[in-house]
Amino acid sequence: MTEPDVARNEKELLNKERLLELLGLELDSLENLPENPEEHRSVGIIGTAGHVDHGKSTLTEALTGKFPATHSKELLQGITIKLGYSHLDVYLCPDDPLPQALVSNANLKCKKSSKPKHLRCYSILDHPGHEILISTMLAGASIIDYGLVVIAANEPCPMPQTREHVTALEVMGIKDIIVAQNKIELVSKEQLFENYKQIINFFENETSYGIPPIIPVSAALRINIDVLLAAILEYFKPKQPELSGDPLFYVARSFDPNLPGTPPEKMIGGALGGALKRGELRVGDEIEIRPGYITEKNESIPLISEITSIQTDGGHKLDRAIPHALIGIATKLDPGITKADGLAGNIAGKPDRLPPIVKKVTIKKIKMFPKIVGAKVDMRNPPLKKGEQVLLNIGTNKNLGIIESSDGEEAEITLLRPLAMPKNEIAAISRLVEREYRLVGYGILDY
Ligand code: GDP
Ligand code: MG
Repeated sequence: MTEPDVARNEKELLNKERLLELLGLELDSLENLPENPEEHRSVGIIGTAGHVDHGKSTLTEALTGKFPATHSKELLQGITIKLGYSHLDVYLCPDDPLPQALVSNANLKCKKSSKPKHLRCYSILDHPGHEILISTMLAGASIIDYGLVVIAANEPCPMPQTREHVTALEVMGIKDIIVAQNKIELVSKEQLFENYKQIINFFENETSYGIPPIIPVSAALRINIDVLLAAILEYFKPKQPELSGDPLFYVARSFDPNLPGTPPEKMIGGALGGALKRGELRVGDEIEIRPGYITEKNESIPLISEITSIQTDGGHKLDRAIPHALIGIATKLDPGITKADGLAGNIAGKPDRLPPIVKKVTIKKIKMFPKIVGAKVDMRNPPLKKGEQVLLNIGTNKNLGIIESSDGEEAEITLLRPLAMPKNEIAAISRLVEREYRLVGYGILDY
């Protein structure tokens, strides 16, 4: 990613044309983007990141028109608990000047009377920012392609979970990020620029990203959403799906698609949400799910089922699923097994073509951070100890493990629950710090 220029003062930051110049956005090239109105197939998955209440969900709504709460409890408490799915369709109004000509499914109106042309779609995975939910963020980060880091302009930067989420993006190997500097209407121009400098400082000095594109926005007042769309088109380039090889689907969520009170004869099978890491799946395919159903004795029973339908995160039906898109797969599974994320953290693919189910793993090439990145105060991060319980995020799987032995670089770990994930998958390690799990390091899965 080439580094954009930075604004030298608040005037530059608040001038749309200058901002576009600084970001290096080539607006002319956007007009020639291919039209693809029929398929609604995402070109990549954007994951939100950032401290609680900085506006991740509101910004997702400003982009897509849908507040990503999946749960009545979430709406009630105003925080995201689970992974929220949204679908972003980007359109261009042919007769309007750029960047105003860029609109999305949140607001499909052109200023002139022209009809918007569909340019591209993305999946958005909205992460919870609350400090106790870092493992949910890490599970989501294992299937995303780009990070949209939301930082509120009315708080000092970085707040603890801004730092922790950005570290999580780095650990998960996410290369492309955009920062939305949010809530800009709440601060003075001078405060806005001060905060902008703090953001630059943080990324330059504490991360491997260098200076990312930073776009001042107001998610609530829908300010600069067009500039953000331009940046998304420019910096979040379509991903090339790896179609060869056995399909490998990471289950991020699972649910019972039947409304309460549906009579048994009308009930449909359980649904899986997530993304393919490679290969393709089609309606009618037989699939295996591992580790599958976990018995009371902690034994796993892999499940076999059939795909009855495939949907995008926007509800569009597909006959084939490919990587870099959030999808929902309807199956013939008992919805009692899939309800309430019962199968989140599983993998699905062709029967007998999936990684083995293991309970003991080796985490290799461990890198522990010098400090606890998500803590509110500076805290040392000592090496892993024999007997210590850690939380492992491997792919979409969250698991507790006991350290059997560790020499600093490698650790033998006995898992609390069976796991099926491919070797060499990234293992994010969290440990208990003041009664909450904090991200403290990472390594590579082996068994
Ligand atoms: P999240 O925890 O990062 O997902 O944050 P939310 O999107 O739930 O927003 C947290 C609070 O900030 C809510 O009350 C929002 O209405 C508010 N909020 C979000 N964006 C803006 C903004 O641009 N301006 C203002 N004033 N409030 C905002
Ligand atoms: Mg939220």
